[in-house]
Amino acid sequence: MDFRLSEEHEALRDSVRDFAREAVAPVIAEHYERHTFPYEIVRQMGKMGLFGLPFPEEHGGMGGDYFALCLALEELARVDSSVAITLEAAVSLGAMPIYRFGTHEQQARWLPKLLSGEALAGFGLTEPGTGSDAGGTRTRAVLDGDEWVINGSKAFITNSGTDITALVTVTAVTGTNPDGSKELSTIIVPSGTPGFTVAPGYSKVGWNASDTHELTFDDCRVPAGNLLGERGRGFAQFLRILDEGRIAIAALAVGLAQGCVDESLTYAKERQAFGRPIGNYQAIQFKIADMELKAHTARLAYYDAAARMLAGEPFKRQAAIAKLHASTVAVDNAREATQIHGGYGFMNEYPVARFWRDSKILEIGEGTSEVQRMIIARDLGL
Ligand SMILES: Cc1cc2nc3c(=O)[nH]c(=O)nc-3n(C[C@H](O)[C@H](O)[C@H](O)COP(=O)(O)OP(=O)(O)OC[C@H]3O[C@@H](n4cnc5c(N)ncnc54)[C@H](O)[C@@H]3O)c2cc1C
Repeated sequence: MDFRLSEEHEALRDSVRDFAREAVAPVIAEHYERHTFPYEIVRQMGKMGLFGLPFPEEHGGMGGDYFALCLALEELARVDSSVAITLEAAVSLGAMPIYRFGTHEQQARWLPKLLSGEALAGFGLTEPGTGSDAGGTRTRAVLDGDEWVINGSKAFITNSGTDITALVTVTAVTGTNPDGSKELSTIIVPSGTPGFTVAPGYSKVGWNASDTHELTFDDCRVPAGNLLGERGRGFAQFLRILDEGRIAIAALAVGLAQGCVDESLTYAKERQAFGRPIGNYQAIQFKIADMELKAHTARLAYYDAAARMLAGEPFKRQAAIAKLHASTVAVDNAREATQIHGGYGFMNEYPVARFWRDSKILEIGEGTSEVQRMIIARDLGL
């Protein structure tokens, strides 16, 4: 058993850490305040190869692994979660389904752009009427000659409406299975397809520099060849994508939790109360010690899930544990970091205010905490 990083992983972690501090930290607060998408940061992440991290070189990727992506996400989220979720959604939800399930033609058409960060893709599973119960999908796609005709809507879709969004993959009901259940399939819808409308961005509590939209499909026609993988495999496809994605979200949550430790340490040494730095008081020391403990144990949980996944072992339960634990820890640490900052913690100019606003969604997106508990309990045989 060895938890030390390889030389390659360590070098990647260090370069993303430097990038986050030098290129993201100085500009992200303004994007967040103005709710603007950080195109220049995305361009630079593309140049660094971050969008291609876990993909083979033959597709234009960096030839790394999923753990490398997780390390990058942790370091980005340590500084800012909007940037981290943009990368997470682009890679794990956007490009990954095409890499895993796409035909050679689909891969050749889309992956080079997505893996270089020149273009982004969204993953449309959630609908206005159904999220956790993804089997409740109502969007329908009907084959008409050599085209799919799609009708329905999707809610909260990340990276779906930027100037560089090339496509969204959407899950849709394409028929009825022999047992009477819905046949679900996944279809690629390129941006700009007639009948595909992207609503203006949501007004969100956090992740304000990331891109999230409701999408509608009104007799939207795409070629039959845009089916992703086999017809009827939509359910299995998104379960696989979400299992992996949970490890990535756990890494992002650990980054936020560690960022809270970083900011609290600095502040506790500077801020004076009753004639001493507040870090001299044991009440503050214990808060920071607990925050470090939580970030550390959550990191071990996602390392474990990633190691199992890379070894080709079952990892569903461990990914759910990592996501559940890390998101809880992120919310805890954000609350405590804000407390340590006192009134300044409630001011948007301090990074901890951003961390606080960005933490809650981690207990909701890519499967709520209740859903993670359901997955763990089911895997235990209940
Ligand atoms: C900013 C943002 C970005 C997102 N990006 C994407 C994206 O890119 N693609 C995408 O497809 N989706 C995306 N989502 C959607 C997200 O994954 C869903 O919001 C999430 O899965 C929860 O679904 P829901 O909102 O419909 O809540 P519901 O499923 O309606 O749940 C409501 C509450 O009921 C609980 N609940 C539901 N069922 C049960 C049960 N059986 N037992 C106990 N409790 C239960 C839930 O845990 C939750 O607390 C995004 C959401 C946000 C806010």
